[in-house]
Amino acid sequence: MAQLAHDPNACADGRTTLELGAVLPKTAEVHENHLFVGGVDMAELARSQGTALYVMDVAHIKQQLRAYKDALGSNARVAFAGKAFLNKAMVRLLKEEGCSLDVSGGGELAIALAAGFDAAQIVVHGNNKTETELSEAIQANVGLIVVDCFEELGRIERIAATHNRTQRILLRLRPGIVADTHEFIRTGAEDSKFGFGISNGRALTAARVALAAEHLQLVGIHVHIGSQIFDISSYAETIEVLAEFAATLKTEIGFTLEVLDVGGGLGSAYTVADELTAIKELGDLLTSHTKACFEQHKLPQPALMVEPGRSIVATAGVTLYTVGAIKDIYDVRCYVAIDGGMTDNIRTALYGAQYEAVIANKAAERREALVTLAGKHCESGDVVAIDASLQTPEIGDIVAVFGTGAYNATMSSNYNAQVRPAVVFVEDGTETVVQRRETYEDLMARDI
Ligand code: PLP
Repeated sequence: MAQLAHDPNACADGRTTLELGAVLPKTAEVHENHLFVGGVDMAELARSQGTALYVMDVAHIKQQLRAYKDALGSNARVAFAGKAFLNKAMVRLLKEEGCSLDVSGGGELAIALAAGFDAAQIVVHGNNKTETELSEAIQANVGLIVVDCFEELGRIERIAATHNRTQRILLRLRPGIVADTHEFIRTGAEDSKFGFGISNGRALTAARVALAAEHLQLVGIHVHIGSQIFDISSYAETIEVLAEFAATLKTEIGFTLEVLDVGGGLGSAYTVADELTAIKELGDLLTSHTKACFEQHKLPQPALMVEPGRSIVATAGVTLYTVGAIKDIYDVRCYVAIDGGMTDNIRTALYGAQYEAVIANKAAERREALVTLAGKHCESGDVVAIDASLQTPEIGDIVAVFGTGAYNATMSSNYNAQVRPAVVFVEDGTETVVQRRETYEDLMARDI
């Protein structure tokens, strides 16, 4: 596997924790050689709660959500993408912050409803929603369902009719934009399993079908071009394509767009090399470009909607592990074995993601070792960080891996019957376990 290869020219960067910049959660501090997040000592927290442990900086999450709201203005809607990070505490936080929620599938919907989220603020996604999932969503009175295919148009019409409801929908479109990101997380290109094609006429046909259906209320269109996007010119290109399609909708079938949902996708800094685009910059581009493009086509301004996930929670998250073994293989590399791995963070094995790490109990020291953080699972591909700079490790040290707040907990698994870590929210010096660690009983709870 090429992505596992050690780079013989790589060397440790000699940075201390506070020199890692945008990779750090906003409240990260170092006191007496220890890393603090949300005013809580990470090494102490690891010892009291056990490892592996997911930690989330609540102040960071709130700042990011507010940054989107400020950047887009009061007419726009910010729907957090639950696929990035979801549990009842997160749902409650979103509710307090006045955000909407994008759910994908019945499970995410169930969590949102169980935590008392207003169904009218829920947007339902998925490229193959089952009858059951659609029934659950329609019966819960969700605000919007984003329709991905013709089959779904028929299913929603039928289910809505049964419940004597009219369901508000958006059509998911494939704008044919190749966003500059990993192909596994690119979703708006012509070759994509998501949505209706614009260039092949399917999107227009879908709009006709939707408008003719008695129990569907078409209110707008949706795109999501990919994730971990740094070059935001792809969004400008997307808006141009969508405004042109909106003009086609108007002239061909007399439909006026109310909602323009441009999805999520803004990148987060995982390494010191990543150059971040500010949320404000994206917000300015989305609002000004939408205004200009819709004016150009002499169309009324639609209400903007965004669905950020990663850029809200990725950097808020830190995963803590305990070093259990060190194998320094001469002339090969130094493996530092941690008590987690691909079960709590699949991103490195899945698409070669990169992370920065420090030793939480040596946080003020320079990172002078070059290591591969290896998981405890029975796969050679089970690594969390390859050629990572780290303070000199010793058995029992607490390793903190940054940038793990998105697509880690929600992609976790029980491979090797590993129990999933607890999730702890930290804020103003207080720690709150919002999801307990799994137990062996949990692992067997479904066995008959
Ligand atoms: N909306 C949709 C439809 C998505 O599929 C995704 C992610 O795949 C998102 C929003 C969130 O994207 P991100 O976490 O990159 O902001």
